[in-house]
Amino acid sequence: MKNVILGAGIAGISAAYHLKKNGKNSVVYEKNGDWGGLCGNFTLGGFRFDKFVHFTFTDNSYIKSIFEKSSPLLEHPPVSSNYYKGFWLKHPAQNNLAPLPTDEKIKIISDFIERPQKAFSAIKNYAEWLKVQYGNYFAENFPFKYTRKYWGVEPENLETKWVGNRMHSPSLAEILKGAFEEQEENFYYTKYMRYPIKGGFRSILDSCRKPIDIAFNKEAVSIDTDSKTVFFSDGSSVKYGRLISSIPLTEIIGMLKKVPKKVISASKNLMFTSGYMVSLGFNRADVARHLWFYIYDEDIPPSRVYSPSLKSPENAPKNCSSLQAEIFFSNKSRIPAPDEILEKTVGKLVEMGLFTTKDILVKDVRFEKYANIIFDKNIYKNRKTVIDYLNSVGIKSIGRFGKWDYMWTHQAFEDGMDAALEQG
Ligand SMILES: Cc1cc2nc3c(=O)[nH]c(=O)nc-3n(C[C@H](O)[C@H](O)[C@H](O)COP(=O)(O)OP(=O)(O)OC[C@H]3O[C@@H](n4cnc5c(N)ncnc54)[C@H](O)[C@@H]3O)c2cc1C
Repeated sequence: MKNVILGAGIAGISAAYHLKKNGKNSVVYEKNGDWGGLCGNFTLGGFRFDKFVHFTFTDNSYIKSIFEKSSPLLEHPPVSSNYYKGFWLKHPAQNNLAPLPTDEKIKIISDFIERPQKAFSAIKNYAEWLKVQYGNYFAENFPFKYTRKYWGVEPENLETKWVGNRMHSPSLAEILKGAFEEQEENFYYTKYMRYPIKGGFRSILDSCRKPIDIAFNKEAVSIDTDSKTVFFSDGSSVKYGRLISSIPLTEIIGMLKKVPKKVISASKNLMFTSGYMVSLGFNRADVARHLWFYIYDEDIPPSRVYSPSLKSPENAPKNCSSLQAEIFFSNKSRIPAPDEILEKTVGKLVEMGLFTTKDILVKDVRFEKYANIIFDKNIYKNRKTVIDYLNSVGIKSIGRFGKWDYMWTHQAFEDGMDAALEQG
């Protein structure tokens, strides 16, 4: 009886690698023709683009050593920027208000001083959390707008446990200092963002991918947990002894028979974002000036833009540079057509003065159905209902969309490893 793993993203690859390390064979079945999932990349005209920004910042020495095995990692200080109404503010914006007009600074600082005071336990949603941390004016003009662009929902529809240390809460002294002059101090939640010198982000996994078996173009479409069989879209099937799946919870429930109604309903109520990547390669080395930056203006589609060529020069031909813009939509909203997104994004980035259309050598748009999970107020109840059910029918669900959690790559890797070790 086989160990069967569904999905060759980092979680599935880690599960197969750690089973192998413990003397157990497995086969990973992947619906696409290549491995890596969200850690994957694509190359166009000599430019390599990851799927979204991707750095690693794990401090776990075992995971770090695996990630470094295939390619040494470059270490970037996490210095990023913010674009707001034509002004560039160092990140985090609330600590670096110096470039803004005086009137705007006064509104932000007065509202910060008069911000609502509430105990954390009394805060009902993310909108309230933001106002309590930053004051109304900043909250409404920066993170509220960013939330609509990145999470595709209104901030009052999000809960707050996911925030953790992801956002810096400043003191009045910090805000005042940053309103007079640009600050050197970095308030990011990690000291370094690491990225492979060669091969794009997924090369952190090369040493794990080599010893394992992956069957490509094998899209699981149904699973019979009584006969322990997975059926694929090409008509083939495989019997399993153990089944580990990194397929999104919203998809796997539809592959099973006799699922209780409350589980189906919980899976349908899980919310997520999908994302477009607009990837651009330029004939000039100086287009990319920021490792990444955030855009708050709601008439500009991307919430974030990063530079693959600054992550590693190996991602672009000599004397060239590249950018990739990320545009997200919730699964409850209308998703525009790719060409509309591409043209509007390029037009707005040109208006921002980042480049001219003559500088562009490569222009591409592609879509990922699953990007982020959305932390609406029912997420914990719904995902528990689904995961408990999968456990009860003998399916071990792993990874970002298998656990339905805000996992970084090292966490998805650890989750795959834990599942493999749990199985003995
Ligand atoms: C915008 C964005 C930025 C990010 N930035 C970072 C970052 O800077 N640093 C960081 O550490 N993490 C980052 N992450 C998170 C990181 O990408 C994920 O945690 C990680 O890649 C998830 O891996 P996974 O294996 O769980 O899922 P996935 O990568 O989604 O893998 C699942 C695999 O299952 C396959 N599959 C799906 N359905 C089927 C089916 N029916 N049959 C067979 N196969 C199937 C998919 O094709 C895919 O290959 C970012 C994520 C996003 C969206």
